[in-house]
Order: sequence, then C-alpha cells, then structure tokens
Amino acid sequence: VTSDLFERAERFALPDELRAADLIPFYLEFTDLEATRAKIGGRSVLMMGGLDYLGLSADPRVRQAAASAALGAGTSRTGSRLHCGSTPEQRAFETLIASFLGREDALVFASGYMAQSGLITALMDTDALLVLDERAHASILDGALVARCRVRRFAHNDPASLEQQLARGAGSATLVMVESLYSNEGDLAPLPEIRAICTRYGARLAVDEAHGLGVLGAAGRGLEEHFAMPGAIDVISGTFSKSLASVGGWIAGSRKVVDWIRFHGRPILFSAAISPASLAAAHRSLEILIAEPDLVARLQANSRRWRSLLIGAGVPLVKDPAGPLASVRIGDEKTCLIFSRRLLEAGVYANTVLHPSVPRGEAVIRTVVSSAHQESELTYAAEVFARLCHDLKVNGSVEPS
Ligand code: PMP
Repeated sequence: VTSDLFERAERFALPDELRAADLIPFYLEFTDLEATRAKIGGRSVLMMGGLDYLGLSADPRVRQAAASAALGAGTSRTGSRLHCGSTPEQRAFETLIASFLGREDALVFASGYMAQSGLITALMDTDALLVLDERAHASILDGALVARCRVRRFAHNDPASLEQQLARGAGSATLVMVESLYSNEGDLAPLPEIRAICTRYGARLAVDEAHGLGVLGAAGRGLEEHFAMPGAIDVISGTFSKSLASVGGWIAGSRKVVDWIRFHGRPILFSAAISPASLAAAHRSLEILIAEPDLVARLQANSRRWRSLLIGAGVPLVKDPAGPLASVRIGDEKTCLIFSRRLLEAGVYANTVLHPSVPRGEAVIRTVVSSAHQESELTYAAEVFARLCHDLKVNGSVEPS
C-alpha cells in the first residue's frame, strides 16, 4: 500500500543490468528513415520491424503532401470538430476511404487508438456486451473501460469459444470485435465462421483493420476482400500508422452508424482533430495504394518469401504467418532483450514485444516485411535470425494456424 501517489514512481528504477548492457529498446534513437533502412544511434540498420507495409513513409510524394499541407493549412487544427469545424480535406479523405471499402461513410480520427475508443464509446453503454478476442489490441479494451460496457473475451481465433460467450450473453445488445491480422501473432481472424456466429446470435461485428488495410486482399481492402465476403463486417476501424504512412485513424460503415459515432464518440467531441500534415500524408498514401495495387502484390510476395525463409531455417514462430508479420517465439524477457541487442549488432532491427503487449513469459521478437524489401535483404535477415536462435538456444515448434 502506498500513501503517496508518486511513491512508486520515485522508487522505480530500470534494472541496472539491462541499462548497463544497453538492452532497453525505448532508448534507441532512429534517424534517416528510408523504406527498408534507418540509422539507430548513427549506425545504418536493415528495418525488419518498421510496420511501413507499403514503404510509403519514405515515398517523396507522401512526404511532399505532408509538407505542402503544413505550409498551406497550418500545423494544427487546435480543437475538436464539434467546436472548431471541419476542413474539406477531412471530408475528402472520408469520402475516398468509404468508397474504397464499399461503405456509405467514414470518419477520421487523430489516431487509431482514438478510432477504437470513438467507435466503442459511441455504440456501447453500461447494458451492452462487448465480446473480444483475448488477443485483441489494448485500444479496444481501453475503449470498453471508458464506455463501461460489459466485456467478455473468447479464446484467440476460436469460433467455438466465441459461440460459448455469445450463448451466455443471449438477450444483450452485443458487439463482437476482432482484429483482421493480429499484430503480435500474425494470424488472420476466421471471418466466415465469426460472421456466421454473429448472425446466429444477432450480434454486430466490428473489425480492427489496423494491419489489414493495404495488406490483405488483391487490392488491399482487408479481411472482407481476402475472404471474398464484401459487406460482411458491420463497422470497420483502422489506423494511418501502418500502410498509410502517417498518424491518425478511421472508421467506416453505414451512413447512420457513422453519423451516430460522429456525434457520440468521445475522442471526436473532446480531442483536437488530426493535423493537416498527418491527414495529407494518409490521403496521398491511400491514393497511391488505390492506383498501384502492385504494391500490395509485392508485399504479399515478400511475406510468403520471408515466411518460407524463416521456416526453412528452423526459426521458431508463434504462428504460421498469414501476412507480413512473423513473430519469433522467445519466451523469457531477458533473452528477448539480448536477442534484440544481438540483432542490432548484426545490423538488423526488429520489434521487441514484452508484457503487457503479450502475456508474461511469452516475449517475442516481431518481424515485419514491406513491399520495398529486396530479396537479398530478406535472405540476410533470415540468416541472422537462424544464427541467433542457434547461439541463444531459442527453439520451439511452429503452431499450425
Ligand atoms: N489496433 C491495432 C491492432 C494496433 O496494432 C494499433 C497500434 N498501432 C492500434 C490499433 C492503435 O493505432 P494507433 O497507433 O494509430 O493509435
């Protein structure tokens, strides 16, 4: 029990042995970001954890769009749209993404985290039931905490477990929410089974396409396109921070539902709108994605190549990857930090994913490919991973997805 709220903060110290060995990823300083390379602490590394799926963050057309918007429209919107009004650019983006996804309308947010919160706080109240995949992103759970709705979780990607939870909640207004491509596991939500169960129980279905937009389906429209089930999702959300090479978020759905969220989603009411530069970068990225579906094809070819290189080299993966995210199963957190340090020494950067992003003792090194990676880069990275798994005695078996 602490008597003073700052006491824990004042006692807090990062473990000396981690700090001394320079093992804490938070302190890595990135500069000179390009499509597949960056400098960390002044040294050039191969990015295998950039989440810039289509390589657009380095695209001069996207950078120029952001710069022109900042010069032309200013650096901030300074307030919420409720109080400070909207811009034609916000509406233009919403119209473009709605038509790309075959929806009547869409709404832009200042981050993906806020988009989840906006959707959930608008739709859910204290009587409503949110049924989530146990691995769904923290932003979804945080939205539920603000909405104070009832929450139940089902076993990851397990339709039978979803059905059990819905059977227990029969009679409540229910939203089922899943991710399309899971950010730490790299596997896909089984949309056909989930849709059928939601329909059977009269539940609405929301899907977070943070890692699906620009990644899944021939044109990059996401999970519905992947499974050839257009219109199967009731409301879709996503972020700008992956394929769209920016910072921001969005939801898309029917005109009525989007309108409701526009006037009831708390981040729209109480937080400043997205900056013109961030919006312009996402808009330009979406235009490029629509005009150049070949980028998506290249990403998918690189994803398959990376998967077979890792599996061929015996690198233990958490799941058989369904897309560009492949997580190496490490387990112990300290080993994971050492692994990431050794990777950097070999000139490769990947994401160190620890608790609370994953359960304790299930630390992973998450790797991400982009459409911009060259075959030689993937081959080199796979060799480094295989060597480190051998040296650090990281082993395990691939769990079939
Ligand atoms: N959903 C998922 C699945 C995510 O991985 C993330 C984090 N990138 C978010 C939502 C939140 O998005 P943002 O970073 O734009 O807040």
